[in-house]
Amino acid sequence: MGRKTPFVTASQLEDIASRFPTPFYLYDEKGIRKTAQSVLDAFSWNPGFREYFAVKACPNPAIIQILLDMGFGLDVSSECELIMAERMGVSGERIMFSSNDTPLEEFAHAARLGATVNLDDITHIDSYQEAVGSFPEVMSMRLNPGEFPFANGIFGKPAEAKFGMTMDQMLEATRRLMSLGVKRFGIHALLASNTVTDDYYPTLARTLFAAARRLNDELGAKVAFVNLSGGVGIDYRPEERPNDIFKIAEGVRRAYEEELVPAGMGDVAIFTEMGRFITGPYGALVTRVIHEKHIYHDYLGVDACAADLMRPMLYGAYHHITVMGREDEPCDHTYDVTGALCENSDRLANDRALPECHPGDLLYVHDVGAHGHCMGYNYNGRLRHAELLLEPDGDVRLIRRAETPSDYFATLDVLEGWDVPVEAGASKPKTARP
Ligand SMILES: *Cc1c(COP(=O)(O)O)cnc(C)c1O
Repeated sequence: MGRKTPFVTASQLEDIASRFPTPFYLYDEKGIRKTAQSVLDAFSWNPGFREYFAVKACPNPAIIQILLDMGFGLDVSSECELIMAERMGVSGERIMFSSNDTPLEEFAHAARLGATVNLDDITHIDSYQEAVGSFPEVMSMRLNPGEFPFANGIFGKPAEAKFGMTMDQMLEATRRLMSLGVKRFGIHALLASNTVTDDYYPTLARTLFAAARRLNDELGAKVAFVNLSGGVGIDYRPEERPNDIFKIAEGVRRAYEEELVPAGMGDVAIFTEMGRFITGPYGALVTRVIHEKHIYHDYLGVDACAADLMRPMLYGAYHHITVMGREDEPCDHTYDVTGALCENSDRLANDRALPECHPGDLLYVHDVGAHGHCMGYNYNGRLRHAELLLEPDGDVRLIRRAETPSDYFATLDVLEGWDVPVEAGASKPKTARP
């Protein structure tokens, strides 16, 4: 069985934890940069290539800035993500607005920023027209082919998914958009999540290239790009083999040479919208054991909970755990690692083989750099914790402070007596008059 190694040493992490109280998320800038560069190198055969980082995976401006500096664009899907892009000075074709069930105001906002808009449904042509009035030169459309060989647990079969339009609808949508003045088209699909195989992108590419040829051949539409979106996974489990982005990109290149180049479509740009693959392995949730409990199972109670990391509760997702400083001890104990929520499903791990642990031990929860902190919530009055960035020179920078009770109570400022900050340890806030 393989072994997963934290990107910090035990003594480094104890030092960080002496300055920043646990629990916290820690991100590794060096790892993010290295992976981002490998993506650029792997797809350098395609002159128009661009990766649009899926902001929803890790919506922290300090992380996003690293990726913008490397030339990435941003894939956004909501009002707040549009604001994030705008505040970071990103506009025009560096924004891909890939949303679904889209409110009209968000189409209008995306249009104001000059974003490339990816229409999830044929009816969104009318929505866009109502929201914006006219159409830009470039529009993208999201395909749902119904069938696809890579169905998996998180996503399910494309035919069961709410996303995208059918191929017939895409042809009809293209006809309509051409008559409305659109000159160039993009085709997008996200048909699987967290794939750990070299074949997902190449297989998806063949599906989308075939669609691109139909637009080209049947309608004379100019296809400017094919967007392979996200879904490239990471090796959450120690026995898994990490994806090789160079093999994946090579498979896409082969499909491109076979399907597009002979059709005279060798100028189509390849876009991607990876999130998990870029930042997933380079974030850790650092939490301390605060209790141990031995009843019918053995429990380690930690200071983080499902409000910090929902994936195990939501999808039964596996996140590897390293007990810092005990890396070489045998994993001869079986624990459920739980948080403090009044929910039995509040677990970071179930039946996990770990070395013998005690209160005070520092746990490193692996691979939470994407769809981790940002999925957190405030159930049970639990607050979201801080995010820290480990910079390449070894310095650690606070890139999001922990929430305080004031943040939790902030939206009650419409109620009399609750319009003042509330601090931890305070007695009751001024109570409203009866
Ligand atoms: C979530 C999402 C992504 C990123 O997915 P990953 O699994 O993190 O790579 C990309 N594009 C769209 C439209 C998404 O919804």
